[in-house]
Amino acid sequence: MDFRSISFDDAVVGAGILGLAHAYTLARRGRKVIVFERSQRAQGASVRNFGMIWPIGQTAGHNRELALRSREIWLELLAEAGIWHERVGSLHLAYADDEAAVLHEFADREAERYGYELLTAAQALNKSSAILAENLRCALWSADETCVDPRLTVASIPAFLEAKYGVKFAFNTAVTAFHSPRVVAGGEQWHAERLWVCSGDDTQTLYPELLENQGFRRCKLQMMRSQPYGNVFRLGPMLAAGLTLRHYTSFKDCPTLPALQARYAERNPDFDRYGIHVMASQNGNGEVTIGDSHEYGADITPFDREEIDGLILNYLSGFLNCPDLRISQRWHGIYLKHPTDLYFVGRPEPGVVITTGVGGNGMTLSFGLAERVITTTLD
Ligand SMILES: Cc1cc2nc3c(=O)[nH]c(=O)nc-3n(C[C@H](O)[C@H](O)[C@H](O)COP(=O)(O)OP(=O)(O)OC[C@H]3O[C@@H](n4cnc5c(N)ncnc54)[C@H](O)[C@@H]3O)c2cc1C
Repeated sequence: MDFRSISFDDAVVGAGILGLAHAYTLARRGRKVIVFERSQRAQGASVRNFGMIWPIGQTAGHNRELALRSREIWLELLAEAGIWHERVGSLHLAYADDEAAVLHEFADREAERYGYELLTAAQALNKSSAILAENLRCALWSADETCVDPRLTVASIPAFLEAKYGVKFAFNTAVTAFHSPRVVAGGEQWHAERLWVCSGDDTQTLYPELLENQGFRRCKLQMMRSQPYGNVFRLGPMLAAGLTLRHYTSFKDCPTLPALQARYAERNPDFDRYGIHVMASQNGNGEVTIGDSHEYGADITPFDREEIDGLILNYLSGFLNCPDLRISQRWHGIYLKHPTDLYFVGRPEPGVVITTGVGGNGMTLSFGLAERVITTTLD
Protein backbone atom coordinates (compact mmCIF):
# COMPACT_ATOMS: atom_id res chain seq x y z
CA MET A 1 0.00 0.00 0.00
CA ASP A 2 1.23 3.47 -0.82
CA PHE A 3 1.17 5.50 2.43
CA ARG A 4 1.69 8.74 0.52
CA SER A 5 -2.03 8.93 -0.16
CA ILE A 6 -2.80 8.79 3.59
CA SER A 7 -3.12 11.87 5.71
CA PHE A 8 -1.26 11.26 9.00
CA ASP A 9 -1.65 13.13 12.27
CA ASP A 10 1.96 12.49 13.22
CA ALA A 11 5.23 11.64 11.50
CA VAL A 12 8.04 10.37 13.72
CA VAL A 13 11.65 10.59 12.55
CA GLY A 14 13.72 7.61 13.74
CA ALA A 15 12.81 4.06 14.80
CA GLY A 16 15.24 4.02 17.74
CA ILE A 17 13.72 3.64 21.18
CA LEU A 18 12.71 7.30 21.49
CA GLY A 19 10.96 7.26 18.12
CA LEU A 20 9.20 3.99 19.00
CA ALA A 21 8.14 5.40 22.38
CA HIS A 22 6.69 8.45 20.63
CA ALA A 23 4.85 6.25 18.12
CA TYR A 24 3.43 4.06 20.92
CA THR A 25 2.27 7.03 22.98
CA LEU A 26 0.70 8.85 20.03
CA ALA A 27 -0.99 5.72 18.65
CA ARG A 28 -2.49 4.90 22.05
CA ARG A 29 -4.10 8.33 21.94
CA GLY A 30 -5.88 7.20 18.75
CA ARG A 31 -3.70 9.23 16.38
CA LYS A 32 -2.67 8.13 12.92
CA VAL A 33 1.11 7.71 12.99
CA ILE A 34 3.91 7.01 10.51
CA VAL A 35 7.54 6.36 11.53
CA PHE A 36 10.38 7.10 9.12
CA GLU A 37 13.69 5.29 9.60
CA ARG A 38 16.53 6.03 7.23
CA SER A 39 18.12 2.56 7.62
CA GLN A 40 16.74 -0.84 6.76
CA ARG A 41 16.26 -1.25 10.52
CA ALA A 42 17.28 0.89 13.48
CA GLN A 43 21.00 0.48 14.08
CA GLY A 44 21.84 3.36 16.41
CA ALA A 45 22.38 3.51 20.17
CA SER A 46 19.06 1.75 20.81
CA VAL A 47 20.33 -1.62 19.57
CA ARG A 48 23.87 -1.21 20.95
CA ASN A 49 23.17 -0.84 24.66
CA PHE A 50 22.90 -3.11 27.72
CA GLY A 51 19.10 -3.15 27.71
CA MET A 52 19.13 -1.84 31.25
CA ILE A 53 16.01 0.00 32.37
CA TRP A 54 17.86 1.54 35.29
CA PRO A 55 15.89 4.00 37.46
CA ILE A 56 18.41 3.75 40.31
CA GLY A 57 20.91 5.67 38.17
CA GLN A 58 18.72 8.79 38.20
CA THR A 59 18.91 11.46 40.86
CA ALA A 60 16.24 10.94 43.54
CA GLY A 61 13.09 13.01 43.08
CA HIS A 62 11.94 14.38 39.76
CA ASN A 63 14.35 12.39 37.52
CA ARG A 64 13.91 9.09 39.35
CA GLU A 65 10.12 9.52 39.20
CA LEU A 66 10.36 10.02 35.44
CA ALA A 67 12.44 6.85 35.15
CA LEU A 68 10.00 4.86 37.29
CA ARG A 69 7.05 6.09 35.25
CA SER A 70 8.95 5.17 32.10
CA ARG A 71 9.55 1.67 33.44
CA GLU A 72 5.84 1.35 34.19
CA ILE A 73 4.95 2.12 30.56
CA TRP A 74 7.76 -0.15 29.31
CA LEU A 75 6.25 -3.03 31.32
CA GLU A 76 2.80 -2.39 29.85
CA LEU A 77 4.19 -2.46 26.31
CA LEU A 78 6.40 -5.51 26.87
CA ALA A 79 3.46 -7.45 28.32
CA GLU A 80 1.08 -6.27 25.60
CA ALA A 81 3.54 -7.19 22.86
CA GLY A 82 4.82 -10.40 24.49
CA ILE A 83 8.45 -9.33 24.17
CA TRP A 84 11.09 -11.03 26.36
CA HIS A 85 12.17 -9.09 29.43
CA GLU A 86 13.13 -9.90 33.00
CA ARG A 87 12.42 -7.91 36.15
CA VAL A 88 15.70 -9.04 37.63
CA GLY A 89 16.57 -5.94 39.69
CA SER A 90 20.11 -4.73 40.28
CA LEU A 91 23.01 -5.24 42.65
CA HIS A 92 25.73 -2.65 43.27
CA LEU A 93 28.63 -4.56 44.81
CA ALA A 94 31.21 -3.12 47.24
CA TYR A 95 34.60 -4.86 47.38
CA ALA A 96 36.42 -2.10 49.28
CA ASP A 97 35.67 -0.14 52.45
CA ASP A 98 35.26 3.18 50.62
CA GLU A 99 32.72 1.58 48.24
CA ALA A 100 30.82 0.14 51.20
CA ALA A 101 30.81 3.59 52.82
CA VAL A 102 29.19 5.16 49.75
CA LEU A 103 26.55 2.42 49.61
CA HIS A 104 25.76 2.94 53.30
CA GLU A 105 25.36 6.69 52.77
CA PHE A 106 23.15 6.14 49.75
CA ALA A 107 21.01 3.55 51.55
CA ASP A 108 20.63 5.79 54.64
CA ARG A 109 19.23 8.51 52.42
CA GLU A 110 17.13 6.59 49.93
CA ALA A 111 16.47 2.98 50.97
CA GLU A 112 13.27 3.62 52.85
CA ARG A 113 11.78 5.97 50.27
CA TYR A 114 12.49 3.74 47.27
CA GLY A 115 12.49 0.28 48.83
CA TYR A 116 16.22 -0.38 48.35
CA GLU A 117 18.06 -2.76 50.67
CA LEU A 118 21.62 -2.82 51.87
CA LEU A 119 22.64 -6.50 51.87
CA THR A 120 25.41 -8.31 53.70
CA ALA A 121 27.83 -10.30 51.53
CA ALA A 122 25.95 -13.51 52.36
CA GLN A 123 22.59 -11.99 51.41
CA ALA A 124 24.05 -10.69 48.13
CA LEU A 125 25.41 -14.14 47.29
CA ASN A 126 21.90 -15.48 47.81
CA LYS A 127 20.60 -13.04 45.20
CA SER A 128 23.29 -13.95 42.65
CA SER A 129 25.47 -17.02 42.41
CA ALA A 130 27.41 -15.27 39.64
CA ILE A 131 29.29 -12.88 41.93
CA LEU A 132 32.64 -13.38 43.63
CA ALA A 133 32.49 -13.86 47.40
CA GLU A 134 36.11 -12.95 48.16
CA ASN A 135 36.41 -9.43 49.68
CA LEU A 136 32.72 -8.67 49.13
CA ARG A 137 31.79 -6.18 51.85
CA CYS A 138 28.11 -5.50 51.11
CA ALA A 139 25.74 -4.77 48.23
CA LEU A 140 22.83 -2.50 47.40
CA TRP A 141 19.74 -4.29 46.13
CA SER A 142 16.98 -2.67 44.10
CA ALA A 143 14.05 -4.58 42.60
CA ASP A 144 13.16 -1.89 40.04
CA GLU A 145 15.72 -2.47 37.32
CA THR A 146 14.44 -4.40 34.34
CA CYS A 147 16.35 -6.08 31.56
CA VAL A 148 15.33 -6.07 27.90
CA ASP A 149 17.25 -7.41 24.94
CA PRO A 150 17.76 -4.21 22.93
CA ARG A 151 18.21 -5.89 19.55
CA LEU A 152 15.15 -8.08 19.96
CA THR A 153 13.03 -5.32 21.48
CA VAL A 154 13.79 -2.62 18.91
CA ALA A 155 13.26 -5.14 16.10
CA SER A 156 9.95 -6.42 17.55
CA ILE A 157 8.16 -3.20 18.52
CA PRO A 158 7.47 -1.98 14.94
CA ALA A 159 5.57 -5.15 13.98
CA PHE A 160 3.58 -4.93 17.22
CA LEU A 161 2.71 -1.26 16.70
CA GLU A 162 1.71 -1.96 13.13
CA ALA A 163 -0.52 -4.91 14.03
CA LYS A 164 -2.12 -3.50 17.18
CA TYR A 165 -2.30 0.24 16.52
CA GLY A 166 -2.03 0.56 12.76
CA VAL A 167 1.23 2.54 12.96
CA LYS A 168 2.93 2.64 9.54
CA PHE A 169 6.67 2.28 9.14
CA ALA A 170 8.72 3.54 6.23
CA PHE A 171 12.20 2.00 6.51
CA ASN A 172 15.06 2.98 4.19
CA THR A 173 13.43 6.40 4.07
CA ALA A 174 15.34 9.41 5.40
CA VAL A 175 13.39 12.56 6.26
CA THR A 176 15.14 15.57 4.77
CA ALA A 177 12.64 18.42 5.30
CA PHE A 178 9.26 19.39 6.70
CA HIS A 179 7.10 22.07 5.13
CA SER A 180 3.96 21.78 7.23
CA PRO A 181 1.98 19.64 6.49
CA ARG A 182 4.37 18.03 3.97
CA VAL A 183 7.14 15.67 5.03
CA VAL A 184 9.90 15.25 2.48
CA ALA A 185 11.27 11.74 2.88
CA GLY A 186 13.02 9.39 0.50
CA GLY A 187 12.66 12.01 -2.20
CA GLU A 188 8.84 11.87 -1.96
CA GLN A 189 6.21 13.99 -0.19
CA TRP A 190 3.97 12.69 2.60
CA HIS A 191 1.20 14.40 4.54
CA ALA A 192 1.44 14.79 8.35
CA GLU A 193 0.23 17.53 10.67
CA ARG A 194 3.10 17.19 13.13
CA LEU A 195 6.72 16.08 13.03
CA TRP A 196 8.40 14.45 16.05
CA VAL A 197 12.15 14.30 15.48
CA CYS A 198 13.92 11.51 17.40
CA SER A 199 17.03 11.30 15.27
CA GLY A 200 19.50 10.22 17.96
CA ASP A 201 23.01 11.57 17.40
CA ASP A 202 22.23 12.99 13.95
CA THR A 203 22.24 16.76 14.35
CA GLN A 204 23.00 17.66 10.76
CA THR A 205 20.10 16.48 8.61
CA LEU A 206 17.13 18.26 10.20
CA TYR A 207 17.29 21.65 11.94
CA PRO A 208 21.12 21.75 12.14
CA GLU A 209 20.99 25.47 12.94
CA LEU A 210 19.19 24.66 16.22
CA LEU A 211 20.88 21.38 17.11
CA GLU A 212 24.47 22.29 16.30
CA ASN A 213 24.30 25.21 18.76
CA GLN A 214 23.23 23.26 21.84
CA GLY A 215 26.73 22.25 22.94
CA PHE A 216 25.81 18.54 22.82
CA ARG A 217 28.65 16.13 23.46
CA ARG A 218 28.99 12.95 21.43
CA CYS A 219 30.08 9.98 23.50
CA LYS A 220 31.48 6.67 22.27
CA LEU A 221 31.08 3.54 24.39
CA GLN A 222 32.84 0.20 23.81
CA MET A 223 30.82 -2.92 24.53
CA MET A 224 31.20 -6.71 24.45
CA ARG A 225 28.94 -9.72 24.52
CA SER A 226 29.72 -13.24 25.72
CA GLN A 227 28.86 -16.55 24.20
CA PRO A 228 25.31 -17.73 25.05
CA TYR A 229 25.06 -19.64 28.32
CA GLY A 230 21.36 -20.51 28.12
CA ASN A 231 20.29 -21.37 31.66
CA VAL A 232 23.64 -22.90 32.61
CA PHE A 233 25.03 -19.61 33.92
CA ARG A 234 22.63 -16.85 35.00
CA LEU A 235 23.54 -13.51 36.55
CA GLY A 236 20.23 -13.11 38.32
CA PRO A 237 20.19 -9.33 38.92
CA MET A 238 22.06 -6.98 36.61
CA LEU A 239 25.41 -6.16 38.14
CA ALA A 240 27.50 -3.08 38.85
CA ALA A 241 30.36 -2.45 41.27
CA GLY A 242 32.49 0.31 42.79
CA LEU A 243 33.43 2.05 39.54
CA THR A 244 29.78 2.64 38.77
CA LEU A 245 29.35 4.72 41.93
CA ARG A 246 31.50 7.37 40.17
CA HIS A 247 29.30 7.31 37.11
CA TYR A 248 25.64 7.81 37.97
CA THR A 249 24.39 11.14 39.30
CA SER A 250 22.31 9.30 41.92
CA PHE A 251 25.45 8.77 44.03
CA LYS A 252 26.95 12.22 43.55
CA ASP A 253 25.87 13.67 46.91
CA CYS A 254 27.27 10.82 49.00
CA PRO A 255 29.78 12.56 51.31
CA THR A 256 32.60 10.00 50.92
CA LEU A 257 32.30 9.65 47.13
CA PRO A 258 35.19 12.13 46.50
CA ALA A 259 37.54 9.88 48.51
CA LEU A 260 36.56 6.86 46.41
CA GLN A 261 37.01 8.90 43.22
CA ALA A 262 40.43 10.05 44.39
CA ARG A 263 41.54 6.47 45.10
CA TYR A 264 40.59 5.30 41.60
CA ALA A 265 42.14 8.40 40.01
CA GLU A 266 45.43 7.76 41.79
CA ARG A 267 45.65 3.99 41.44
CA ASN A 268 43.92 3.39 38.11
CA PRO A 269 44.08 6.61 36.05
CA ASP A 270 43.11 4.71 32.90
CA PHE A 271 39.59 4.27 34.27
CA ASP A 272 39.18 8.05 34.29
CA ARG A 273 41.06 8.49 31.02
CA TYR A 274 38.62 6.26 29.16
CA GLY A 275 35.58 6.90 31.38
CA ILE A 276 35.33 3.23 32.29
CA HIS A 277 32.81 1.73 34.64
CA VAL A 278 31.75 -1.87 34.42
CA MET A 279 28.26 -3.36 34.33
CA ALA A 280 26.74 -6.62 33.13
CA SER A 281 23.29 -7.65 31.94
CA GLN A 282 22.08 -10.92 30.43
CA ASN A 283 19.53 -11.66 27.73
CA GLY A 284 17.19 -14.60 27.26
CA ASN A 285 19.85 -16.67 25.44
CA GLY A 286 22.17 -16.24 28.37
CA GLU A 287 24.52 -13.87 26.51
CA VAL A 288 26.14 -11.46 28.96
CA THR A 289 26.44 -7.88 27.72
CA ILE A 290 29.46 -6.15 29.21
CA GLY A 291 30.68 -2.54 29.10
CA ASP A 292 31.59 0.24 29.01
CA SER A 293 33.85 3.22 28.34
CA HIS A 294 33.12 6.88 27.61
CA GLU A 295 35.20 8.80 25.07
CA TYR A 296 34.07 12.26 24.04
CA GLY A 297 34.32 14.64 21.10
CA ALA A 298 37.68 14.66 19.40
CA ASP A 299 38.71 11.41 21.15
CA ILE A 300 36.07 9.51 19.16
CA THR A 301 37.49 7.47 16.30
CA PRO A 302 35.87 4.67 14.29
CA PHE A 303 38.48 2.30 15.72
CA ASP A 304 38.06 0.47 19.00
CA ARG A 305 40.85 0.14 21.54
CA GLU A 306 41.79 -3.32 22.70
CA GLU A 307 43.28 -1.66 25.80
CA ILE A 308 39.79 -0.51 26.86
CA ASP A 309 38.28 -3.97 26.46
CA GLY A 310 41.18 -5.37 28.50
CA LEU A 311 40.59 -2.88 31.33
CA ILE A 312 36.86 -3.67 31.38
CA LEU A 313 37.37 -7.45 31.42
CA ASN A 314 40.07 -7.21 34.06
CA TYR A 315 37.80 -5.18 36.35
CA LEU A 316 34.88 -7.52 35.65
CA SER A 317 36.97 -10.50 36.77
CA GLY A 318 37.08 -8.81 40.20
CA PHE A 319 33.35 -9.33 40.75
CA LEU A 320 31.95 -11.79 38.18
CA ASN A 321 32.40 -15.45 38.92
CA CYS A 322 32.11 -16.84 35.40
CA PRO A 323 34.41 -19.80 35.00
CA ASP A 324 34.52 -19.75 31.20
CA LEU A 325 33.88 -16.20 29.97
CA ARG A 326 34.30 -16.08 26.20
CA ILE A 327 33.66 -12.89 24.26
CA SER A 328 31.82 -13.48 21.00
CA GLN A 329 31.06 -9.88 19.91
CA ARG A 330 32.58 -6.43 20.29
CA TRP A 331 31.11 -3.15 19.11
CA HIS A 332 30.73 0.48 20.06
CA GLY A 333 27.79 2.85 20.20
CA ILE A 334 27.51 6.62 20.15
CA TYR A 335 25.02 8.79 21.97
CA LEU A 336 24.38 12.49 22.23
CA LYS A 337 24.41 14.14 25.64
CA HIS A 338 23.08 17.55 26.53
CA PRO A 339 25.76 19.59 28.36
CA THR A 340 23.60 20.36 31.42
CA ASP A 341 20.14 18.80 31.16
CA LEU A 342 18.87 15.25 31.34
CA TYR A 343 17.47 15.58 27.82
CA PHE A 344 16.78 18.22 25.18
CA VAL A 345 13.41 19.20 23.74
CA GLY A 346 13.40 21.78 20.94
CA ARG A 347 10.53 23.38 19.02
CA PRO A 348 12.18 24.94 15.95
CA GLU A 349 8.90 25.84 14.21
CA PRO A 350 5.15 25.28 14.72
CA GLY A 351 4.23 21.61 14.50
CA VAL A 352 7.78 20.29 15.07
CA VAL A 353 9.20 18.84 18.29
CA ILE A 354 12.77 17.49 18.57
CA THR A 355 13.65 15.19 21.47
CA THR A 356 17.25 14.06 21.85
CA GLY A 357 20.40 14.46 23.97
CA VAL A 358 19.26 11.87 26.51
CA GLY A 359 22.77 10.41 26.76
CA GLY A 360 23.24 7.09 28.54
CA ASN A 361 19.69 7.13 29.92
CA GLY A 362 17.62 6.73 26.78
CA MET A 363 16.48 3.15 27.31
CA THR A 364 15.46 3.99 30.85
CA LEU A 365 13.69 7.28 30.16
CA SER A 366 12.29 6.83 26.64
CA PHE A 367 8.66 6.00 27.41
CA GLY A 368 8.31 8.44 30.31
CA LEU A 369 9.95 11.16 28.28
CA ALA A 370 7.77 10.54 25.23
CA GLU A 371 4.67 10.70 27.42
CA ARG A 372 5.84 13.95 28.99
CA VAL A 373 6.78 15.62 25.70
CA ILE A 374 3.57 14.57 23.95
CA THR A 375 1.32 15.54 26.85
CA THR A 376 2.99 18.95 27.14
CA THR A 377 2.62 19.52 23.41
CA LEU A 378 -0.89 18.26 22.74
CA ASP A 379 -2.84 18.86 25.96
C1 LIG B 1 26.79 1.40 24.26
C2 LIG B 1 25.60 2.06 24.90
C3 LIG B 1 25.06 1.52 26.05
C4 LIG B 1 23.93 2.12 26.61
N1 LIG B 1 23.29 1.48 27.65
C5 LIG B 1 22.09 1.97 28.08
C6 LIG B 1 21.34 1.25 29.03
O1 LIG B 1 21.63 0.10 29.36
N2 LIG B 1 20.24 1.85 29.58
C7 LIG B 1 19.83 3.11 29.16
O2 LIG B 1 18.88 3.64 29.71
N3 LIG B 1 20.45 3.74 28.15
C8 LIG B 1 21.58 3.20 27.61
N4 LIG B 1 22.23 3.85 26.60
C9 LIG B 1 21.63 5.05 26.03
C10 LIG B 1 20.54 4.71 25.02
O3 LIG B 1 20.92 3.61 24.22
C11 LIG B 1 20.26 5.94 24.12
O4 LIG B 1 20.01 7.06 24.94
C12 LIG B 1 19.02 5.70 23.28
O5 LIG B 1 19.14 4.49 22.57
C13 LIG B 1 18.82 6.86 22.29
O6 LIG B 1 17.69 6.53 21.51
P1 LIG B 1 17.28 7.39 20.25
O7 LIG B 1 16.06 6.78 19.70
O8 LIG B 1 17.30 8.83 20.62
O9 LIG B 1 18.53 7.26 19.25
P2 LIG B 1 18.96 6.09 18.16
O10 LIG B 1 18.82 4.77 18.79
O11 LIG B 1 20.27 6.51 17.70
O12 LIG B 1 17.85 6.23 17.08
C14 LIG B 1 17.79 7.30 16.19
C15 LIG B 1 17.28 6.76 14.86
O13 LIG B 1 16.95 7.84 14.01
C16 LIG B 1 17.29 7.49 12.69
N5 LIG B 1 17.40 8.75 11.93
C17 LIG B 1 18.24 9.79 12.18
N6 LIG B 1 18.01 10.79 11.32
C18 LIG B 1 17.01 10.37 10.49
C19 LIG B 1 16.32 10.98 9.39
N7 LIG B 1 16.60 12.22 8.98
N8 LIG B 1 15.33 10.28 8.78
C20 LIG B 1 15.00 9.02 9.19
N9 LIG B 1 15.64 8.40 10.22
C21 LIG B 1 16.62 9.07 10.87
C22 LIG B 1 18.60 6.74 12.85
O14 LIG B 1 18.86 5.92 11.73
C23 LIG B 1 18.34 5.94 14.13
O15 LIG B 1 17.82 4.66 13.87
C24 LIG B 1 23.38 3.29 26.04
C25 LIG B 1 23.97 3.84 24.90
C26 LIG B 1 25.04 3.23 24.32
C27 LIG B 1 25.64 3.82 23.08
